[in-house]
Order: sequence, then C-alpha cells, then structure tokens
Amino acid sequence: MSSRPARYDVLFEPVQLGPVSARNRFFQVPHCNGMGHLRPAGLAEMRGVKAEGGWAVVCTEEGAFHWSNDLAPFAEGRLVDDDDLPMHELTVERVHAHGALAGCELVHSGRTAANLEVREAPMAATAVPVEGVHPVQARAMTLGDIADLRRWHRQGVQRALKAGYDLVYVYAGHALSTIQTFLSRRFNTRTDEYGGSLENRARLLREVLEDTLELAEGRAAVACRICVDELVGADGLERAEIEELLGRLGELPDVWDFMVGDWDFDSLTARFGDECYQEPYVRGLKALTSKPVVGVGRFTSADTMVRMIREGVLDMIGSARPSIADPFLPNKIREGRWEDIRECIGCNICVASDWTISSLRCTQNPTVGEEWRRGWHPERIRAKQSNAKVLVVGAGPAGLEAAMSLGRRGYDVVLAEAAPRELGGRVTLEARLPGLAAWIRVLDYRLAQLRRLRNVEIARGSSVTTEEVLRFDFDHVAVATGARWRTDGVGRASLHPLPIADGLDVLTPDDLLRGALPAGEQIVIYDDDHYYMGGVLAELLAGKKKQVTIVTPEPLVSAWTTNTMEQRRIHARLAQAGITITLAHVLRAAGPDGIRLQCAYTEHEASVAADCLVLVTARLPNDELLTEITAAGRGPTAKAIGDALAPGTIANAVWDGHRYAQELDDPVAQDRDQVPFRREIIALPRD
Ligand code: ADP
Ligand code: SF4
Repeated sequence: MSSRPARYDVLFEPVQLGPVSARNRFFQVPHCNGMGHLRPAGLAEMRGVKAEGGWAVVCTEEGAFHWSNDLAPFAEGRLVDDDDLPMHELTVERVHAHGALAGCELVHSGRTAANLEVREAPMAATAVPVEGVHPVQARAMTLGDIADLRRWHRQGVQRALKAGYDLVYVYAGHALSTIQTFLSRRFNTRTDEYGGSLENRARLLREVLEDTLELAEGRAAVACRICVDELVGADGLERAEIEELLGRLGELPDVWDFMVGDWDFDSLTARFGDECYQEPYVRGLKALTSKPVVGVGRFTSADTMVRMIREGVLDMIGSARPSIADPFLPNKIREGRWEDIRECIGCNICVASDWTISSLRCTQNPTVGEEWRRGWHPERIRAKQSNAKVLVVGAGPAGLEAAMSLGRRGYDVVLAEAAPRELGGRVTLEARLPGLAAWIRVLDYRLAQLRRLRNVEIARGSSVTTEEVLRFDFDHVAVATGARWRTDGVGRASLHPLPIADGLDVLTPDDLLRGALPAGEQIVIYDDDHYYMGGVLAELLAGKKKQVTIVTPEPLVSAWTTNTMEQRRIHARLAQAGITITLAHVLRAAGPDGIRLQCAYTEHEASVAADCLVLVTARLPNDELLTEITAAGRGPTAKAIGDALAPGTIANAVWDGHRYAQELDDPVAQDRDQVPFRREIIALPRD
C-alpha cells in the first residue's frame, strides 16, 4: 500500500494533450545528453529507463530536421532523412514499452549552427556571426528560404510521426532555434513581413505551428517550447510581448512548454539559483491559455510540484536534470518512497557531458549513460555472486556508493570511516562552501539507503591500518580514502615543485575546508585546477573580509566551468565581490617578500604582495593503504577507488564506487584485455 498522502494525488492525474493522454503530470522535457545521433542505442535505453520510472512523457533532445543545419561536433539529435528513422524508432519503442508518450523536439538552429561538417552557409533571421567565436557568419533568410524552412519542418514532422512519436515540438527556446530568433527583437531586424511588429515577428512561429498541427491532427500532440523572457529587458522577449503573443497564439498548440532565458539560465546550477527559480517569470501566463502548460524548475520536492499545480502556475512538472538524477522520481513519489529519491544537486555535470560530447553522466546517478552499454540500472543491481565479505575504507562519495551498491547486491560489507562522526568525506566539507549546500544530497541519499541495509555495518572513528586489514577476515577491500591537495605548486602549469620559501603562510583547500583561516589580510589564490574550487574559496575568503586575488594560468577564471555553463556567472560574482582576477599568469615562486608570477604567453614577470598563498593546483591520492596491502602479498584483494585511485570530480568518485560494486566477482569485467561495455560502431556505407 502506498504511504503517499492524498495531497500528492494531484500529480498523478492524467492530462489530455490534444489527441493523446499523459498518464500523470510528470513530463521529461527535451534535454541534451552527449549521446544524440552518435550513440543512439545508449540514448534509447536511457530514455526507456525514464519511462519505466514513471514519466508520462519522455522527449528527445533537439534534433535537426534538415541536413543543411549542422551542430557538429556536438552529439545532438538528427532526423534529416529516413536513414535517421531507425534510431528514433528504437527510442519510441523503448519509451512505449513502459507506457509513456514519446516526444520529439525538432530544431532549426540557424545562427547557433556553424555548419562545420556540411559547410553550407548558415542561414538565420538576419545576417550575423554565428554563436561562439567560429569565423563563420550566417546569411539572412530570403522569403524563399522561409518557405523552404517551413517545408523542411513539415518533412521533419512527417518523419517524427513515421517514427511513432506521440508529441512533436515546435521549438522557440533557449536562443537555440531560428523560430525564436525571428520572434525576438534581440535577433530580428528584418524589414519585411517577418520583421518589425510582434505580429510579423511571430509569423514564422504561427505558420510552423499551423503546418505542424495540420500534419499531426489526431495522431500526435503539438507542443510549443518558447522562451517567455530572454532576460535582456526591452531589447528582447519579455513579459508584455509574451502576454500579447499568448493572446494571439495561446490556443494553437496542444501544450505549451515555457522556459526562461538562454540555456545557461534554464539550467542554472544550485550555486546560482534555488529550486523553482523560474517561477516569477512563468507565474500568471497559464491564465492566458486554456492549453496545458509545462515548465521546469529543477523540481525535486513533491510539495513544490503540488504547489505549482494548485496555484495554477503549471499543469505538468517539467524536468530534465531531476529526471537524470532520478529516472524513477515519479514512481517514488507515487509510492511515497521519499527516502529513495536521489535529488539532483544542481551541479551540471550532466550538462558538461553535452559540451564535452561524451555519454551522459550525473553526480547523483552513476548508472545514467550506462544503461545500454554496461547494463546498469538506477534501481536494480544483480545479486551477489559469492559470500565474500568486503571492507570499504573511507566514507566519501566513492566509499558510500560502493558500500551501498555492494549492500544492495547482498554482500556483507563494513564501511569504515576515520572521522569520528561525519560521513561523506569531501562532499560533506565542500557542501559548506558558498553556494554548494545542495551537494550534501550526495551523502543524504546514500546514508538513508545504508541505514536500511542490515548487511552493511558503518564503523565511524575507524582509521583502518594495513595491519588490521591483514588481520581481519575480509575477502576484498576497497580503498576509498580520497586525496589531498598538493602543497608544492605542482599542477598543470608546473610539473615540478615550485620554490616556495619559508615564512609565507601557505594553505590548501584541505586546510580551508577544515576551518583554517589565513592570519593575514592579503590572500592570493593560485588556481591551476580550473574547476569550481578556486572560485568558491575566493568567495569564501572575500566573505571573511580578506583582500583576495585569484590568479590562474588560463585566460578564463574557473575555465572548466564553461562546460557547466557557470563560467560567466562565476567571473561576475567574483568581480562583484571585489576579488581581483588575474588571468593568464603562472606561479613561478613565492615567499614572504611576495608572489612571483609570469605571463602565460611571454617572459613578462610581475610580483604580488601577499600574507597568504592558497594553492589550488593538483591532488595526490591517499593510496598508502593500497600500496602497503599490495606489498604484503597476502590478505584480501585490494583496489583503490574514486579519488584514492585518481583524483577527479565527485561524479567520478561516485561512478567509480558504483563500478567497483557492479564488477565485484565478475570475471569478464576483471579481464582488462576485453572491452567491458558494449560499443556503438558506425556502420560503413553499403556502396
Ligand atoms: P572520494 O571522493 O574518493 O570518495 P573522499 O576524500 O571524499 O574521497 O573521502 C575519503 C574518506 O576516507 C574521508 O572521509 C576520510 O576520512 C576517509 N579515510 C581516509 N583514510 C582512511 C582510513 N585509513 N581509514 C578509514 N577512513 C579513511
Ligand atoms: Fe543534477 Fe548534477 Fe546529476 Fe545534472 S549531474 S542531474 S545537475 S546531480
């Protein structure tokens, strides 16, 4: 029997979307995944698992409907001719197999497609350089081009229907779609009947909607995903125009999908926004249409979801990231299994998969992207293959995930943690840094699960020694002892220790995470790590009224965060906090008389005064236990996992812990001469 209170029942009411019925209000909106047309079998299985987890609608990512429009090198969707049908049919089949509706998002990317592969001149509402820094300009579309675009979209819709989709999108969002660029004054400076007044700018949207409705009539729902505020004030789409637009077109599509800003705002990280941050922009728009409205908000709280419905903000709970972190979110809410929900932490490692063109990954859900190729499932794991006893040393992300997953398999596990009380390792410490509080969910979820596993014993305050490992009766030991930040300056820019003279206060993130504070006022943070740590520590110290300079060898501060779409926000936040940002400078030497820097491109040197140098460079694995056990030549099998193997992201530590649990007692996985996953091989042409 469900322990779900009746107030959540509203989330499980069916919703009519034109000719099709959604079984509940959970709607997985289109989202990119780094798999797209390159890894379609993996993609289809990933979507299918979400349908299995209870989503009523499961959509594709954006997919080009015409060959001339090419987002290479990115792995987005494609539906440019019938050769693309099989991969879509597979997705539809996997989604239908679990009773969900399958949705397809068609896109003409216009000014965001540099057409690097097809080499066709991009075309857009107006003649502008394409997005980014490619030396490519788009040409302005003629009336003939617009007619072509409409015809190609119709052909795309026909293919989507042929593939079996139940819902087809007309896409005007994220500043990624030509239809939006026609609609917005920000991009459209045309003087013909497609430019000028809102009626003219909305002409293409209306025409494409009408074309799509005509073809989909009675067979599939037509969704319109639209940017309801470009967040550039009167220079672009904003409230007044959207209200007017809904007055004109509000009844056209079968369902509206409202989004806000460009993609980096739609997928804002927890560092920059809380759950439901889009609400003020979307609230009130639903009253302007009788058609159902979908919207996102990184929703993980069932109470917030219910509030969205009850207060008339949305009809359907749109989700991309929460559906990645927990593909079974709807089923868990339906069954009142609150503690089983793996809440998204808002880190955007998933988004980084798209930017790095690698299969979808997620900090909270190590199985995502692995459903087909490794056969991993977010809720099921194969039973143990032996009665082996396993010791997991260290309860950071890797150890927690390994112990939990081994426990689920049925192994007897001891999870030993040196810290007297706290579990979670780095994630518990890092979640205290500015903007990272939601990261504690990595611990919360696993701890709640571990508490229920009677075959997993948690030993706190247990600093495991080699002698103990050899004395105890374990068959396997997973060394999940993490890593420590280096104190010698070694990192990407310098592969050898730097001259750091005595007398200068030198700290690492480990010191600051454990509560140390620099004694002096002037702090230089040297960030040769390039992800979030340097930036958040700068924020932390600026918050303590220190004068902070952050120095990085890269031309961007927190350079890797371009992949999580945070980089511009980080720069702005640091600058606004009064932090001095010194780009493209390498640390050469440091001492009480100053920090010596060198321009990353020239011989030019500069000196900065500092009371304290914080080194955010590289980390060293804490693998001494492994080395000693291995040297003993007896005792249990021992493996390092997570940061103790090779320091990386929390997502990677979780994944590695999961992998250890999945592969224990699997002889095939242990054979490193064999590829341990299924590969997708490009088929050679037949002629
Ligand atoms: P990861 O990200 O790989 O999970 P963390 O650094 O977050 O690594 O976690 C490592 C954990 O291991 C920390 O909580 C640390 O206290 C613990 N630890 C390190 N050495 C030992 C040891 N010898 N015995 C028990 N716990 C240990
Ligand atoms: Fe959420 Fe991070 Fe997972 Fe993306 S990677 S779904 S933001 S937890």
